[in-house]
Amino acid sequence: MDILLVDDDAVDRQSIKQVLEQNPSITRLSEAETVEQGLCLLNEHNYDVILLDYRMPEVNGIEMVTRLRDRPNLGQTAIVMMSKSDDEQVALDCLHAGAQDFLQKKEITTVRLKQALLHARKRFELERELYESYRKVKDMAQTDALTGLYNRYHYEDALNNAIKNNKPQTHSVALMVLDLDRFKYVNDRYGHDAGDALLLEVVERIRRCLRGNEIFARLGGDEFAIVLTNIERVYNVNKLARRILRELDEPFAINGDNVRCSCSIGITLHPYNGETAAELTKYADIAMYRAKKLGRGQLCFFEETMQEEFSQRYQIELAIRDVIKGEHFRLHYQPIVDAGSKALTGFEALIRWPDTQVQYRPDQFIPVAEESHSIHEIGRWVIKEAVRQLSRWQQTYDRELTMAINLSPIQLGDRELVLFIQQTLERFDVDPESVTFELTETALLGNDKIKHDCIAAIHRLGCRIALDDFGTGFSSLSHLLSFPIDIVKIDRSILPVSDEPSKHLAVMIGLSSMLRSLGLSIVAEGVETPDQSVLCQALTIDKLQGYFFAKPQSQEEIELRLLSSASEKAELGSDALEFA
Ligand code: C2E
Ligand code: CA
Ligand code: CA
Repeated sequence: MDILLVDDDAVDRQSIKQVLEQNPSITRLSEAETVEQGLCLLNEHNYDVILLDYRMPEVNGIEMVTRLRDRPNLGQTAIVMMSKSDDEQVALDCLHAGAQDFLQKKEITTVRLKQALLHARKRFELERELYESYRKVKDMAQTDALTGLYNRYHYEDALNNAIKNNKPQTHSVALMVLDLDRFKYVNDRYGHDAGDALLLEVVERIRRCLRGNEIFARLGGDEFAIVLTNIERVYNVNKLARRILRELDEPFAINGDNVRCSCSIGITLHPYNGETAAELTKYADIAMYRAKKLGRGQLCFFEETMQEEFSQRYQIELAIRDVIKGEHFRLHYQPIVDAGSKALTGFEALIRWPDTQVQYRPDQFIPVAEESHSIHEIGRWVIKEAVRQLSRWQQTYDRELTMAINLSPIQLGDRELVLFIQQTLERFDVDPESVTFELTETALLGNDKIKHDCIAAIHRLGCRIALDDFGTGFSSLSHLLSFPIDIVKIDRSILPVSDEPSKHLAVMIGLSSMLRSLGLSIVAEGVETPDQSVLCQALTIDKLQGYFFAKPQSQEEIELRLLSSASEKAELGSDALEFA
């Protein structure tokens, strides 16, 4: 028998050792002065019994027992506790924590100790057997025998737990109920064994789509549930659902036949659709039946607005893929003018959907492109096209024009972006100083080093950085101070709509004087009226952009109306100068 003796008292250890040495069945005896030392020794060797002192400095004996019993297989080792105390309660506490026997130090004799060690060993074996059969029963009660997934009972508990732990202000719990579309057909046609094999394959394919931290359960027959916690964006739920639909869309090999057996998915979210597992499950079932009605291999959100948003986004995502493959996006260019002279100084490049029957606005398709990450490809196309156009205009009309290009925060995560920008500028022989990259404040949020480095690197190339839509978001001073920002674009929502004294006016006055004192160049966006133009000029804002001067226009329109020498003054200047 291998024994580990844990006691901080050297004298006690010595006397116990003397007693133990009289016992011929002891093959190994190790000593530890503290619980930590004892635990280290246990990691290196399997002992049969630990003789453990109850009272020790720092970590006491009871705590060691508790820690061991938390380990798999109850920690593998029987424990006999010892104490100088003759308090009955101490003895009971030790047994309660998981020790197999308790000895008062003064009663330790060769015979008593030998007996205690033997009995502790036996008791521990019995306890372990009991524990294992308890675990088996528990497993059987919680899991589905065929697939090993959680069964319905455990699923409900787990879902209620997830709901309880959810932070409903910021996060949601999503429940997906899946039902196979042709399971009955497979069972009837190929028999139950084939049906079981199909279910196992379905589970395997679904598992491939999961991270492993989800609750995955078989609710019965061919119905499954997946619970996702900590959801910040619904998009992630529908992305996973669609991936599962794709996985299950592939045919299954059954008895040499290729059989299709897609599934239908219904989705509900806590806290939006229900408060309890029962409610969420009921509504997910309803959504799942709606999906079935749509045909095979479909998904449905329970909430109609979510469903509409999903359908719209999904359509846009498919349409974007088509555009990238075939048709091209287009760019329109909105003139930016000098606030004083009203002379054209440059443009902002704004993306447009191709000239197809169905049209989407940038604020509809850019967010979808960001979520599906096609913004990387689209964004690079915009950069190349805008720089190419700028180069052509600069050369053809021999003018110092600038080009502002919008960058999505997602693009800043592209480690190759800076190199791409540099190569594009070189390729079209464009001075970096004539190109501005516009970022919104969301791009500056968080401590993402890659994004911060990307902004700094673009600035080092010599390009200007503009902070877009200022006044709508955080409008944080610290962003202005901690990023290499050259230009601030004041959002049109800040511009006063009439010339009456108003809060807007006060904000404009304060904002422009603050930005000016920080040495930033200011552009006012969305200037629509002569009054706004006059106000901006009075506030010594540098540049103006808005429908009052010109709407975004195609390359041809810009060339025709603005750039050919005779046309510019007439077109841009007309309204503006008249009212200035
Ligand atoms: P933004 O960067 O703030 O662009 C200005 C938007 O205001 C443009 O809308 C423009 O047409 C509109 N606008 C300009 N002057 C006026 C005015 O006087 N009155 C009013 N009511 N609106 C005016 P657009 O082209 O629909 O673009 C919307 C947003 O889509 C842009 O807002 C930008 O955030 C995004 N976007 C557009 N093109 C791109 C692009 O190439 N890349 C990225 N990442 N985002 C883009
Ligand atoms: Ca912009
Ligand atoms: Ca803007």
